[in-house]
This record gives sequence, structure tokens and C-alpha cells, in this order.
Amino acid sequence: MAHIVILGAGIAGHTAALHAKRLLGKKHRVTVISPNSKWNWIPSNIWVGVGKMKQEQVTFPLAPIYERKKIEFHQGLAKSIYPEGDSSTASPFVEIEYTDEARRGQISRIEYDYLVNATGPKLNFAATQGLGPDGHTVSVCTSGHAIEAAQALKNVIEVLKTGKRQSLAIGVGHGTCTCEGAAFEYTFNVEHELRVAGVRELATICYITNENDLGDFGVGGMVFTQQGFQTTSKLWTESLFRERGIHAITGAHVEKVEPGQIFYELIDGTKDVLPFDFAMLLPPFRGVDLKAFNKSGADISELLFAPSGFMKVDADYTPKPYEEWRAEDWPKSYRNPSYPNIFAVGIAFAPPHQISKPMKSPNGTLIAPSPPRTGMPSGIMGKLSIMSIKELIEQGEGAKVPTASMADMGAACVASAGSGLRKGSAASMTMYPIVPDYIKYPGTGRSAEDTFGEIGLSGHWVKLLLHYMFIYKAKARPGWSLIPE
Ligand SMILES: Cc1cc2nc3c(=O)[nH]c(=O)nc-3n(C[C@H](O)[C@H](O)[C@H](O)COP(=O)(O)OP(=O)(O)OC[C@H]3O[C@@H](n4cnc5c(N)ncnc54)[C@H](O)[C@@H]3O)c2cc1C
Repeated sequence: MAHIVILGAGIAGHTAALHAKRLLGKKHRVTVISPNSKWNWIPSNIWVGVGKMKQEQVTFPLAPIYERKKIEFHQGLAKSIYPEGDSSTASPFVEIEYTDEARRGQISRIEYDYLVNATGPKLNFAATQGLGPDGHTVSVCTSGHAIEAAQALKNVIEVLKTGKRQSLAIGVGHGTCTCEGAAFEYTFNVEHELRVAGVRELATICYITNENDLGDFGVGGMVFTQQGFQTTSKLWTESLFRERGIHAITGAHVEKVEPGQIFYELIDGTKDVLPFDFAMLLPPFRGVDLKAFNKSGADISELLFAPSGFMKVDADYTPKPYEEWRAEDWPKSYRNPSYPNIFAVGIAFAPPHQISKPMKSPNGTLIAPSPPRTGMPSGIMGKLSIMSIKELIEQGEGAKVPTASMADMGAACVASAGSGLRKGSAASMTMYPIVPDYIKYPGTGRSAEDTFGEIGLSGHWVKLLLHYMFIYKAKARPGWSLIPE
């Protein structure tokens, strides 16, 4: 009997856990370690953040699902990995600290045969002084943050209703942030809510981003085919902003936030201050605070993790100029090269390099959107890790494991631009592949047929459908495995 331990019950980890039980059955043990009692469909936090959905609509308790599926669940934080065991334990193990009411603070060791690290990002608000819910801005990264954001937005709308002008700033709070798509989506939803509330003309909305151009989204922008014509995601996004009267500051690194003021630097080195009454800025991500130790207790964290804190996998991490990276540098099996029984999937794996061209201001400030790892690839990687583990258990260490590179994977991004079955709309984008491959697709690096953008009501319906479909799937209701990742 093999013991598969999965760290994290987000999109990648929870997908891995459900498939592990489905594919490996009763013969093997599956354990999930995750600090929160509830699962969160993070994409819909955007709607919680504008007061259009309740927290209970985007979360549900994990324990009953795991009990039904015979998956062991430890509500706790993984702190350290011992991939060789230690002087007292022969098997590899993870040291965890419980976070549930009954066992809060207790430490335990969980031994494993295969480990799937799906711990997602650490929301690194601390990288920017004054950023985040403990500072002066709100966030929509967790459902709890989104509730606070909705309240702050409601307060601003109340002030606007008295006839007083208000400034809203939405975007990313550091030069190295990722997830610009989420900031873009929240901007459009806020704009829509202001219009619905009849106060739009009194509000100034400013989108502040580290992207060098609008429409970059951390993937270096896209060339879309729209009704047979080609256009760039830059032109497309600029036009969406223009139509809605939203001002954008691009190529910005937020240095610090003080009450009502965002201090930022641009790629040309100039500095300025953006005043605000309401600000939602996403934090930069880094890997969670996991350490690793060898059998004799020596710290081997550098062997397992990149300086960003994300876990090293089968990527080519050789430092090289941006112009020299290749699609094949991206990982395919998500196995750690030093300990191949450890996988890192979803946001937890260290990307080999940026997809968007990294920029530096004359002051040496790095302004470089980090590569996004959205829901679909995260789910695919979670499932892939389990398919690989199944092969390894059944065929032995020499087994051929399945692969899925982000240079060979597409992504669909449906950014809602206001909710409502009749009045909602969404900007829908698909790209293939996520990581451009300039050898396979000379010129743009992506397939012209499979990379396109569209705006309209049907996109909103798709987004809503995805919300219900993925929550259905995550609840492991009948036929869940037929719903693709
Ligand atoms: C506001 C917002 C909107 C988004 N919208 C979209 C969208 O529309 N479409 C899309 O495709 N993507 C979207 N994304 C991105 C999407 O949410 C991520 O791609 C996805 O959640 C990544 O999955 P993951 O499993 O790697 O990480 P997560 O889903 O973040 O899961 C990580 C898990 O690990 C747990 N964990 C953390 N630390 C530890 C530890 N030490 N030990 C054990 N467990 C730990 C966490 O509690 C969590 O359960 C959005 C993101 C944000 C922030």
C-alpha cells in the first residue's frame, strides 16, 4: 500500500486528491493537509468583492467530502519536508502544525511514499509597505478579503450617492505581481456596479499595473483572431478601457501605500503618487514558508526550492537572458529533480523564467509581471501528478509518466465585466499555448486559430456556468470526473 500525501486543498491539490482516490482506489492511502476547513472557488471571489455573491456561495466545508471519499484530512499547515526521513524515522515525512480548533498548534509527522506539493502562493503583502488588509488597501485573493472589499466598495458608493467625488484605484501592488487578469476583471466589475448604482460619473477609476502594455496579462500579450481579422490584446484591452472611461497607469511598481496614497515608480524611473478613496491591489506571490531537511537534519531548502520559494521541478532553471529562453525550458512532469517522489503542481512549482519581457527602471527597480498559473493548468497538473504516481506504483520507478507542459497547454480566461443574467458581460480570451513556442508558431508564438478574444453577454453566462460546474465537481457529486479540469 502506498501513501500519497497532498499538501494544499486548492484547485490543484483538491483535484489531485479526488483523482487519487478515483484512480488508486482502496488499495492506497490518500491524505490531504491544508490549513483551511473550507474549499474556495477563488475566481468567484471577484463577485463576492462587489457584493454580488455571498461567501457561502464560493466556499464549502472539505471534511464531509473527504469523509465520503475516504480521504484522510488533516487541517493544518505543512512546515517542513524531510524527503529522506531523519535519525528517528526511516521514511520520508512532512512535519505539520494543526490549525483546527481542537488541535491548534500541535505538531505532527505524516509519513509519505509520494508527496504532491499544491500549496499555491503565499500572498506576499509584506513586499510592499502598507499593502493589503493589514495596511491601507483591500484584496479579493481570499473569500474573507473579498467580503472586506465589498464593504469598502459599498462605503464608497454611499459617499458617491451624497454627490461627493471618489477615486478608486485597482490593480497590482508590486512590480513583480502576477494575476493581472483578476485585477482587470475586478476593475470592470466595480465599474459595472458603479453604473448600476447610478454614481459612475462621480467616480474616477484608475487601473495601476506592472504590465508594460495593457493586455499583457503576464503572458507577453496575445495576437487575437476576431471575426477573421487579427488584432492584439493590447488594442483590444485599451479599447475596453476607453469605452468604460477607465484611466490606466502601466509599467508601474508600487513602492508603498499610505492612507489614501499609492506611491509608485514607472519603467522610465519617474515617481508619482496616486490618491485614492478605495484601493484594491493584488499582492505579489511567492512560495509558502516551507523548509526542507535531509536525514542528518541539515537545511536543504535551497535544493528543493527556488529563491522565490516555489518548488523546483523538471524545468531548465539555467540562468540565461530573456531572449534565449525556449518553450522546452518549461516543466513537463512536475517532479522534483532531487526527490522524484515529490511533485509540485499549480502555483507551487517554480517557473523557469518570465513570459512577459522583464523590465528594469533606470533606478534598477524590476518591473516584471510573473507568469500566471491559472485554474485550468493547475487542475490539469494536479490530475497529471496522480496519473504519474499511479504509473510509478504499478510499473515501478522506470515507468513512463505522462507529461503536460504549459508550452503545450491552452488556457481560457473569462473575465466577467459585470454580473446579471441580462445585463452582465464578460471579456473571454483563449490562448494556445500559454507559453509561446516561437519554433512551432513562428511570429506570435501561438496558434492563430486557438487564440482569440470576445466581449459579450454569453461570456458572462459561461463564467456563471463555470462557477456552478466547478463547485459541483469539487463537491465530487455524481459524474464529477467527467467535467474537465
Ligand atoms: C481574485 C482571483 C481571481 C482569479 N480568477 C481566475 C479565473 O477567473 N480563472 C482562472 O483560471 N484562474 C483564476 N485565478 C487563479 C486561480 O485561482 C489559481 O490559478 C488557482 O487557485 C491555483 O491553484 P493552486 O491549487 O495552485 O493554489 P490555491 O488554489 O491557492 O490552493 C493552495 C492551497 O494550499 C493551501 N496551503 C497554503 N499553504 C499551505 C501549507 N503550508 N501546507 C498545506 N497547505 C497549504 C491553501 O490553503 C490552499 O488550500 C484567480 C485568482 C485570484 C486571486
